[in-house]
Amino acid sequence: ACAISPKAIVSDACASYSTLERLNRNVKPALDELTQTTDFFSHYRLNLFNKKCPFWNDENGMCGNIACAVETLDNEKDIPPVWRASELGKLEGPHARHPGKSMQKEQPKRPLQGRLGENVGESCVVEYDDECDDRDYCVPEDESATSKGDYVSLLRNPERFTGYAGDGAKQVWDAIYRENCFQRSSFPHSAALGKDTSVKGPAAMDFKAVIEAAGRQQVLEEQRQHNPLTPFVAKTGLEHEDECLEKRVFYRVISGMHASISTHLCWDFLNQTTGQWQPNVGCYADRLHKFPDRISNLYFNYALLTRAIAKLGPYLSQHQDYTFCQGDSDQDTATRAKVMAVANKAASVPQIFDESLMFKNGEGPSLKEDFRNRFRNVSRLMDCVGCDKCRLWGKLQTVGYGTALKVLFEFDNNDTPAVPVLKRTELVALFNTYARLGSSLDAIQQFRAMVEQAEAAD
Ligand code: FAD
Repeated sequence: ACAISPKAIVSDACASYSTLERLNRNVKPALDELTQTTDFFSHYRLNLFNKKCPFWNDENGMCGNIACAVETLDNEKDIPPVWRASELGKLEGPHARHPGKSMQKEQPKRPLQGRLGENVGESCVVEYDDECDDRDYCVPEDESATSKGDYVSLLRNPERFTGYAGDGAKQVWDAIYRENCFQRSSFPHSAALGKDTSVKGPAAMDFKAVIEAAGRQQVLEEQRQHNPLTPFVAKTGLEHEDECLEKRVFYRVISGMHASISTHLCWDFLNQTTGQWQPNVGCYADRLHKFPDRISNLYFNYALLTRAIAKLGPYLSQHQDYTFCQGDSDQDTATRAKVMAVANKAASVPQIFDESLMFKNGEGPSLKEDFRNRFRNVSRLMDCVGCDKCRLWGKLQTVGYGTALKVLFEFDNNDTPAVPVLKRTELVALFNTYARLGSSLDAIQQFRAMVEQAEAAD
């Protein structure tokens, strides 16, 4: 029985929910320790404010900017300012600018203390390796940007309800699901994607130019014609039964990420009447409980990330390239031990995701590049998310999944000369995305119990 994938044709992930829940109970304490107590894994660097949405004009009212989100709450004016979507979506806590290489040269030991939080050594969080690699599934954070981005405390900015909703959010999700339309070369959207093999800025510019030239409405029309499933693809997931393994995996990753975001916003929900942050079981029932396929995709992602981290473990322990706090051997040793504790626990179950099945048969091999480019576009779409906190976690999780895919598909590929070394940003994103999924699994189980309790009481 393959409970995780009731509609699976092949065993792309074959493990029962209970196996994964048991595993999560074992891994989660170590993962929380890693992501919540180490400087290295609790700060993330990203370019949060300097990038424009590359796919449509923010000002046309369709993008998910804060104004759109505010509009969606009918009684926004009645809500105390501090509970409004724009306030809830703001980043909190100190965040520091990247010090830049020149500053580092002049003052190699200069700490960022006071701006990143107590006792945070700069050497634990700064990274300089911004080179991009053809094997990346995400757009490197500094692409086409002049700034190196900001450091943000993930602990001070938990992923939770922000009130960001409405047309803006919907447009982003729709565009993300549209990336699932593989090999549709006759409309501008895919034509531009096909050219995008470089991951560099100009490709994104081409795409933008093509979209603008064609006119947004026309593009949407054509996408609809060529992809009858697309606008509705999110509804049931059943449409994907006939698709090849690679396309289904792509869809499941996106849908599982969406399900995890929904779980967090329902779990850490603001009751705007009482001002209390608390689980909202109605929110869970509407967005997840009624859609077992979404929950299945969430578990699927947990299996996928477990496999990626288990596979990465030996590389992290053997390769000298990985340091977790350059220049401070005590912190390095302590953080490394915590990383290995998570990786070893993830490797403690039999392999639950078999990546070797992908990109092999039929149209599989030709899909790999397409798959990678589409994932990069999902990562670019995160710049269209109009709520800072949602954008932070959206970007982090996209990089996390992109890194997992890179580990799964690029680490033992005989065609590639060397195994890519992961950047700090990728490692931080990977482990934090795993932690997000772990807490989603936890929350889903508690929500399920609440629903059962309510049903029994009726
Ligand atoms: P949405 O969640 O917007 O979904 C749109 C449509 O997609 C649904 O109608 C349904 O047809 C389909 N769908 C929904 N879930 C799935 C799934 N799992 N699989 C397949 N199809 C699905 N809000 C917050 O409060 N906090 C956040 O941190 C946050 N982060 C976000 C990050 C991103 C990248 C984006 C785009 C949005 C984020 N939002 C966040 C907004 C949030 O995801 C919802 O868009 C919002 O709450 C409105 O929800 P909705 O009920 O209209 O449906």
